[in-house]
Amino acid sequence: MIALSRKQRSILKTLDPEASASAWRDWRWQVKHAVRDFRTFEEATGIPLNDGRRREFAETTALFPMAITPYYLSLIQTENAFNDPVFRQAFPSDRERIVLTSDMADPLSEDLDSPAPCITHRYPDRVLLLVSNVCAMYCRHCTRKRRVGDREFIPERSEIQMGIDYIRTHRHIRDVLLSGGDPLMLTDEYLDWILGELRAIDHVEIIRIGTRMPVVLPYRITDDLVTMLKKHTPLWINTHFNHPREITRSASEALARLADGGFPLGNQSVLLAGVNDCPLIMKSLVHALVRNRVRPYYIYQCDLSEGLSHFRTPVGKGIEIMESLIGHTSGLCVPTYVIDAPGGGGKIPVMPNYLISWSTNKVVLRNYEGVMTTYHEPDSYEPIFCDRNCTACDLFLDLSSAPEDDDAVGIEKLLADHDDTISLVPAATDRYERRND
Ligand SMILES: *Cc1c(COP(=O)(O)O)cnc(C)c1O
Ligand code: SF4
Repeated sequence: MIALSRKQRSILKTLDPEASASAWRDWRWQVKHAVRDFRTFEEATGIPLNDGRRREFAETTALFPMAITPYYLSLIQTENAFNDPVFRQAFPSDRERIVLTSDMADPLSEDLDSPAPCITHRYPDRVLLLVSNVCAMYCRHCTRKRRVGDREFIPERSEIQMGIDYIRTHRHIRDVLLSGGDPLMLTDEYLDWILGELRAIDHVEIIRIGTRMPVVLPYRITDDLVTMLKKHTPLWINTHFNHPREITRSASEALARLADGGFPLGNQSVLLAGVNDCPLIMKSLVHALVRNRVRPYYIYQCDLSEGLSHFRTPVGKGIEIMESLIGHTSGLCVPTYVIDAPGGGGKIPVMPNYLISWSTNKVVLRNYEGVMTTYHEPDSYEPIFCDRNCTACDLFLDLSSAPEDDDAVGIEKLLADHDDTISLVPAATDRYERRND
């Protein structure tokens, strides 16, 4: 017998009068009965919308569709619903139609960095494999909202095969992230095939799955799914909780199932105005995550995708939150705050400053309490000159497992002994154009 709350029973009856209580925990039932129009929303939740909100609904959803799983819908508190963090992540706002001059359709240039179908290749050793264009719930703050959901599809085997072929022929790729959309919208069989193909590639060391299912549809984490995934370890799973209210008993059970299955769990939150832009909320979230064996991984600054302006905070809000975490709570609970650079520069970590000043042999640091302290650096340190001739070096590097052609990249170049580069300069500045004249 499955005990549903009164609210869950009432949503179930509204959406599917014939259904028995056990349907609630059937993920396919949940996906099939995702709420997509405001009338059903009103009937199922008992939250009345005024004429203004109803009018705006059609115009907003023409751009960015709505879908809310019955489970996630049941988390919205009826009292004060419009301020509810779950409501704000799930229900369209007319402010999504505001487009600022700084907004971009593809701020992270994911299209430009796509050398093969289903692939985004931005960093040297890891790629995104986009295996789904659908999600159980469409987050209003989705970075890919221009694409996710507007055409609902899961790529065909032949397309995914081309992405996998790209990975197979690029030896430097040691880490593959399944993303989308939500990869767990695929059937177990289809996922099993993709994971098996990836596992068969020698140089793919780890596979990661990014999914919001533990948050919006925890019943997707079935024993069958876990049994299938276990065949493909080492597999890391990253999820996306934004608010402590999302960590319900069902969510905790789903996380426990994954953790017991042996998958290291991480969480990526997005900093969202009106949802979690508060040090106390974030602290309570990271504590709840760690209690559930989930390591907070990133907090993202909300990016410049169209339709997100109302969710953005100043960067200072993120730094304030980091200030309130570092030192104040377990290091395990502290994620890295990142800004995903517009134009495809990738994730850039942003931190409060702890290094206050330094001289030739001392650094001045401050701690979370504001204590100023000094660290005395060694009076003698024999730097090791590195010419990348590792076989002649006193340090032991096991070359059999080391990468072979390993040129320094970016800032690393400026620090390397074996590279003569003294500055990195953007191409085509006026100053350089003049030199070429
Ligand atoms: C975030 C991201 C990754 C993974 O980055 P990590 O910092 O390793 O988690 C890889 N590729 C793209 C395009 C990404 O946006
Ligand atoms: S689950 Fe992820 S991809 Fe899907 S709508 Fe939410 S943020 Fe976007």
